[in-house]
Amino acid sequence: MKSQVSIIKCSTYSQEELFLKVKQSVELVGGIEKFIKRGSKVLLKPNLLMAIEPEAGITTHPEFVRSVIRLLKEIDCKIYLGDGPSVFGGNAEDIFKVYERTGIKKIAEEEKTELVIFDKRFMHGYFPLTTWVKECDCVVSLPKFKTHSFMFLTGAIKNLFGLIPGSFKLECHKNFFQQEKFAGVLLDIYQAVKPALTIVDGILGIEGNGPATSGIKRNFGLILAGADGLAIDALLAKLMNIQPEYVFTNKEAAFRNIGNVDENNIEIKGEKLSSCIIADFKLPDASFKQFLVNKFPGFIANILKKLITIHPKIDSDACRLCESCIKNCPQQTMSVQEGKPVRQWFGIPNSQSHKPVRQWFGIPNSQSHKLVIDYAQCISCFCCQEACPYGAIATKKSFLSRVLGI
Ligand code: SF4
Ligand code: SF4
Repeated sequence: MKSQVSIIKCSTYSQEELFLKVKQSVELVGGIEKFIKRGSKVLLKPNLLMAIEPEAGITTHPEFVRSVIRLLKEIDCKIYLGDGPSVFGGNAEDIFKVYERTGIKKIAEEEKTELVIFDKRFMHGYFPLTTWVKECDCVVSLPKFKTHSFMFLTGAIKNLFGLIPGSFKLECHKNFFQQEKFAGVLLDIYQAVKPALTIVDGILGIEGNGPATSGIKRNFGLILAGADGLAIDALLAKLMNIQPEYVFTNKEAAFRNIGNVDENNIEIKGEKLSSCIIADFKLPDASFKQFLVNKFPGFIANILKKLITIHPKIDSDACRLCESCIKNCPQQTMSVQEGKPVRQWFGIPNSQSHKPVRQWFGIPNSQSHKLVIDYAQCISCFCCQEACPYGAIATKKSFLSRVLGI
């Protein structure tokens, strides 16, 4: 059976207009009551990656969340709203900072919706999930349309990773550090949770080296909705102007024969797909790995992967030594080390203030300390890049990668 997915054009977060567009996106695939029973307890799961303003395009916009709350209120649902951002280990104080800065706390108060934290867990096979998944009748997922340096796309499937409470997320990265294996974990979570409905905030999103501050903010002006998260991710890939199988989770889903990642098995409602494709979409640097995986047989791809590597690279000028990346590194391979005493010789103040005097004299980095990565231990998971609030982690390609232009 074909999966239905709606695509709607919408370039505003203005409350009334946005509500009508979100409602239209759901009506095009059958209306809210097709997916959620009247009076249900619903866990609403936005993407709240870090404590950052909604204008950054990194987190699901609070007005988008408000629109879905209003839609669920129309069928008398009891709504619980929350996320478990990967940067934090479930510490309530940190999570509430995220809720505050992303604007979620404010709309939760205004809409009289209960904000929850994922501090209790139950085991589902080999991974834990927040108990809110069990306590609610269903999950409604509200992903953001963003690239991802490790997994290529942050869409419907990756959004559910936040349902794993606390530090087990880092364990997953450590134990399943190959993208194909990590894709398997994400699909296991998707199959366990089976969200009743997914509505993508693709209005303001991230291209390039997403999903956080190292990416590039862009107004895509789109909303997608449907029950089949894999069909949604397949269409997001098409919108990025690539084939769905470039996204590891889509490829693994096709192998497992779950969801519909083949465009021929997706019924698109609303806009024509061809009118929404972003021809000049900037892919993450890590796209070369997908290139290898998809173009070469396994054993050749494995040899090439060893020669064509990609690692995080610290921009010492932008780094403020906040240590968020260190906390988020599953390999514990990052540390702050004492830098060169150039600053002290010349009496130049700390570079964190970005004083131009350092640039006039061509002095590299005047910080007395700097962040270093032990590349021998690095698994290129890019959790550090995801955690950095200051866009201070770029990517470093190996010589062969640059020569081949991939
Ligand atoms: S340094 Fe970054 S990419 Fe390397 S293992 Fe740590 S978090 Fe992952
Ligand atoms: S690279 Fe980013 S996250 Fe890491 S210490 Fe520097 S500013 Fe903080």
